[in-house]
Amino acid sequence: MRTVLILAEIKDDKLRNVTFECVAAAQKIADGGKIIAAVFGENRSSHSAILGYYGADQVYVVPHHLLNMYTPDAYTQAFVQVIETIDPDVIFMGHTSIGKDLAPRVAARLGLGLVSDSIDVALEDGEIIFTRPIYAGKAFQKKKIQEGRVFATIRPNNIGVGEMDTGRPVEQKNVTLDIQDLRTMIKDVVRKTTSGVDLAEAKVIVSGGRGVKSAEGFAVLQELANVLGAAVGASRGACDAGYCDYSLQIGQTGKVVTPDLYIACGISGAIQHLAGMSNSKVIVAINKDPEAPIFQVADYGIVGDLFEVVPLLTEEFEKA
Ligand code: FAD
Repeated sequence: MRTVLILAEIKDDKLRNVTFECVAAAQKIADGGKIIAAVFGENRSSHSAILGYYGADQVYVVPHHLLNMYTPDAYTQAFVQVIETIDPDVIFMGHTSIGKDLAPRVAARLGLGLVSDSIDVALEDGEIIFTRPIYAGKAFQKKKIQEGRVFATIRPNNIGVGEMDTGRPVEQKNVTLDIQDLRTMIKDVVRKTTSGVDLAEAKVIVSGGRGVKSAEGFAVLQELANVLGAAVGASRGACDAGYCDYSLQIGQTGKVVTPDLYIACGISGAIQHLAGMSNSKVIVAINKDPEAPIFQVADYGIVGDLFEVVPLLTEEFEKA
């Protein structure tokens, strides 16, 4: 039996999907033990019920005003205190921009090992085994923590979310923590991206490369994305050329995504781009060069001019 602690992540007042994936991961290995979620920030206790529906047994709410927005200092202090109070066997959080920043800090503070960016977790002969991609997604590594508490980050969109049971009760505890001597504080967050769909957790992504040729060209992709309820992504080529913001970059030095459908428009398929999207469930490539390497990873390929093909797709999906 293992006690598993999950740090819930909230964006735009909603729990991020990866939090539910962490709960699903916890269910795989808890072995009858307790699943506890920690929720940081004021006025967030309304999230407890839904965490319970998905499988959390207990929710620790820490309604501190310094936790309303993520700062490495405050969250590290709070998470360390929560871990010391709960004393879990296993800790999970999303491999999101917060997870990538926070997990190593907390692991270092507590002297724990960390398995980052796991795409699966399983019990093998009673041991917790993580699967994580290596060599830019070309191979997979199985890993376990040799000794001590298990701490891992979970890549979004891989483990999937379990069944919801609206009759499942959850116990909520409000916890008061002492947070002090902060070196940084966030006053305000100014967003650059306008699309409402979160790229890291999007089920469908329409992505553009240097073949899109201009910032205006991206409007054509945005139209298709709007019809599909998709997020817009980009290659570094497109970002470097100034066609779009770096927050859209997908790849080795950008975001890693695993949508159900990835539509690559005017992207050649360089290894560094593939590192960020090759685990997508279905890949559609639109490129006018039949030799473009993107076709080697694509499930469906369309050889043609994206400025002809994408509007046709938009038109057809609008009818559906
Ligand atoms: P290009 O390679 O120029 O390809 C453009 C494609 O568009 C071509 O295949 C062309 O045939 C097609 N095309 C042109 N016009 C049209 C049209 N009208 N219709 C249809 N197709 C058309 N790249 C990333 O993407 N993400 C990363 O995170 C990343 N990290 C990197 C890290 C390092 C250390 C390095 C060295 C490089 C990295 N890169 C990354 C860059 C990467 O190597 C490529 O340079 C980049 O991915 C190329 O972008 P692209 O495919 O948009 O452009």
